[in-house]
Parts: sequence; structure tokens; C-alpha cells
Amino acid sequence: MPSVLKHTACTACGHQHHFCYLGDDLTVGREYEYLCPETAKHARLRPTALAEIFRTPPQGAVMLTASSGSGLPESEPAQERLQKVLPEVSNLAAKVGGLDQLTKVVETLKETTE
Ligand SMILES: [Zn+2]
Repeated sequence: MPSVLKHTACTACGHQHHFCYLGDDLTVGREYEYLCPETAKHARLRPTALAEIFRTPPQGAVMLTASSGSGLPESEPAQERLQKVLPEVSNLAAKVGGLDQLTKVVETLKETTE
């Protein structure tokens, strides 16, 4: 039966929606994808509370789908992840004056956020 998360903050528009997942195995901490009805943007949600099981989802509930793969982006093969970010990394590197510089920037960032 559908799992429902009521009055849950939307990461895309900042408002609250009812979310509905067609399955009774909605997992806390796992990542789900949805389309925000207000901004028409794809967004991700990690439930922090257990869902309520409803026989019929509330009207206007936003459908959640399990994030692609196992649902955990960390499990994405490193190779694929690299392919996706490579153009951005190259762009960044070009902006700061090369990969070495970028590495320094990242190091500095790490130091200041730790
Ligand atoms: Zn929204």
C-alpha cells in the first residue's frame, strides 16, 4: 500500500507537500526523486520520518520514485561519476588556472570548513 509523507518540506520550492510512494517500503534516509508541482523541477528528498501507510494517497500528493540505481548516489560507479563531473571540473580548473590550482582551492576549502 502507498506510503505517505504529509506536510514535508520541499527542497525545490520550500513549501510543504504531501508525498506519496507506491510501496510500503519507503526507507528513512534513502534518496527519492520527485517533480515539484510548483516549480516543475526535479528534486530529491530523504525522508527523515517514517511514512504513514494509506489505502489511498491524499489528493495532490507528489509521487516519489526511488532514486536511480540502489538509491544511494555513493554506490554509483566511480567511472560514471567521473564522466559526469569531468566537464565541470575542467571548467573550474580553467577558471582558477589549472588543476593544481584547483586542488589548492579545494584544500583551502576543506581547511576552512573543517
Ligand atoms: Zn515544491
